[in-house]
Amino acid sequence: MDFCRGYVIVSPFLMKEVEVISFDAEGTLVTPEFSEAIWHETIPAIYAHRTGLDIVRARETVFEEYASVGEQRLEWYDINYWFSRLDLGSAERAIDQCLPRIGYYPEVMQVLSSLGERYRLIVASCTPHEFLRFLLADTEHHFVRVFSSVSDYRQLKSPAFYRSICKEMGVTPDRALHVGDNWQLDFVTSREAGLHALYLDRSGRTDHQSITDLTELERHLI
Ligand SMILES: [Mg+2]
Repeated sequence: MDFCRGYVIVSPFLMKEVEVISFDAEGTLVTPEFSEAIWHETIPAIYAHRTGLDIVRARETVFEEYASVGEQRLEWYDINYWFSRLDLGSAERAIDQCLPRIGYYPEVMQVLSSLGERYRLIVASCTPHEFLRFLLADTEHHFVRVFSSVSDYRQLKSPAFYRSICKEMGVTPDRALHVGDNWQLDFVTSREAGLHALYLDRSGRTDHQSITDLTELERHLI
C-alpha cells in the first residue's frame, strides 16, 4: 500500500480541535509478547501434548490452520474458536499461564497520564474484550471507553467502526485522533472515516509522516 504514503499528516493547527484520542492496543500500547506466547507457543504446545506430535511439527500444523483462516476473518481473533477447532479444551488456563508476559511499551504510562489530563482517551482495537481486559488491566483507568471492533461490532476496524465510536463518544470524526501501528487498519481506515490519524512505526523506518513512539503524539497536538 505504498501509494497511500502520499497522505499528508494533518497539521498541528487542525489538531487543536481534537477532543478524543483513540489508541490501538497491540503493538501500540501493549507489546506483542503476550499474543506471541498464546498463539505461537502455548497453543502449539497444548496441541503437541494432545496429538503426540513433536513441538516443531505441532507448530507447523497449527500455523497452517491459522493461515487457512487468515486475519481478515473474525475467527482469527477468537481464542475459543481455536481451542474448539483444535480440540484443546478450555482456553482459560492457557490465558492464565501467559498473563506474566503482558507488557507495555516504556513510554505508555507517562504518555497516558499526561494526555489524560487534557483529552478523553479511548481504545479502538480489533482484539476481543476477553483479551483486552487482561491486556489493558494496568492502564484501563486512563480510558473512558474501550472498543473492540470484533466483540462490539463483529467486524475488523472499518470506516463504519470508526464513525460508530465517534458517535458513541459524542464527537464528530474531525474531533478525534486515532493512533496505531497498522498502516491500513489504523491509519488509512480511520482517515477514510474522517478522523485525524497518526501512524506509529516503532521501527523508525518510515518518513516524517509517522511517529516512532507515543511521546511524539504531543508534538502533533500543540
Ligand atoms: Mg496494532
